Amino acid sequence: MKAPPFIYHRPETLDEALALLTEHGDDAKVLAGGQSLIPLMGLRMGRPAHVVDIGRVPKLDAIHVDSDGAVTIGALVRHEQANKSPAIAEHAPLIAQTMPWVAHRAIRTRGTVVGSIAHADPAAEMPAVVLATQATMTATSTRGDRTIAANDFFEGYLDTALEADEILTSVTFPAWPANAVSAVTEVARRHGDYALVGFVGKLVVGDDNVITDAALAFLGAASTAVRVTAAEAVLQGAPANDESFAAAAEVVSAELEPPSDIHGSTAYRKHLAGTLTLRGLQSAANRIGASA
Ligand SMILES: Cc1cc2nc3c(=O)[nH]c(=O)nc-3n(C[C@H](O)[C@H](O)[C@H](O)COP(=O)(O)OP(=O)(O)OC[C@H]3O[C@@H](n4cnc5c(N)ncnc54)[C@H](O)[C@@H]3O)c2cc1C
Repeated sequence: MKAPPFIYHRPETLDEALALLTEHGDDAKVLAGGQSLIPLMGLRMGRPAHVVDIGRVPKLDAIHVDSDGAVTIGALVRHEQANKSPAIAEHAPLIAQTMPWVAHRAIRTRGTVVGSIAHADPAAEMPAVVLATQATMTATSTRGDRTIAANDFFEGYLDTALEADEILTSVTFPAWPANAVSAVTEVARRHGDYALVGFVGKLVVGDDNVITDAALAFLGAASTAVRVTAAEAVLQGAPANDESFAAAAEVVSAELEPPSDIHGSTAYRKHLAGTLTLRGLQSAANRIGASA
């Protein structure tokens, strides 16, 4: 189906884009890669009167690594650009591990990493990465810049802390600890489809094989991406082995209450979340050769 009629704007500068959003407020939507917005408009699930295409705004397509190792991804960095970036492979390995799970190559070539975060689909991978890494979002409007912490960003289904007049200009991922390992795994009906449930996890493991930090985030398990802090607490201070991982997986299955739909029941998704936790943690631990 074709999208309903709308006025298309193609600003050449960030200031111009921000002025358009200020002028049109809730009647306007930012267009980045268009891989979610355009299908939603076609399905009549979104009817913005104004579409503000930021594709020509300069300097938004950069990947920047700070001297401390933090990685900042601009609003126009495509999934495939991140997938092929040596800087991301070195400094943000969890993003590198995630990219092959995001949609299909054609979609990754147009879709943006930051757009995926702004869109906040609970079944998308990047919002879970934001939670697992505690990334910081930078929102820009005519009022200036503000930063939003990961835990405050996702407010509901396709809903974030962004205001109607704000552009998410970049997302910053903190420096990756030297002794951190991570894994991403999911179950989808076909490779490249949105996952039924997905796991994004990070462990920091000391030389004594004891876990000093754990982050476990899930997609497809709630109305937003979620962390299961009760399961992280089980891992904190525990040895990185199968027993600890199984205990955490059990807590994940008990804590999550995923939605039920035609693709899978709540009970099936709870079971899946636990299974993916165990597999994901084992796979992460294998990266440092820890006994798993
Ligand atoms: C068939 C198909 C399968 C897919 N499978 C997956 C998958 O498995 N996993 C996955 O994660 N994604 C998947 N996607 C979505 C894809 O990754 C999108 O590219 C991504 O979700 C949004 O990025 P975009 O740049 O295309 O955003 P757009 O479609 O341009 O925008 C999406 C929404 O975010 C807002 N937005 C975008 N950028 C900004 C910004 N900088 N500031 C403020 N608001 C902004 C827009 O206003 C809009 O509301 C799939 C898409 C399709 C069509």
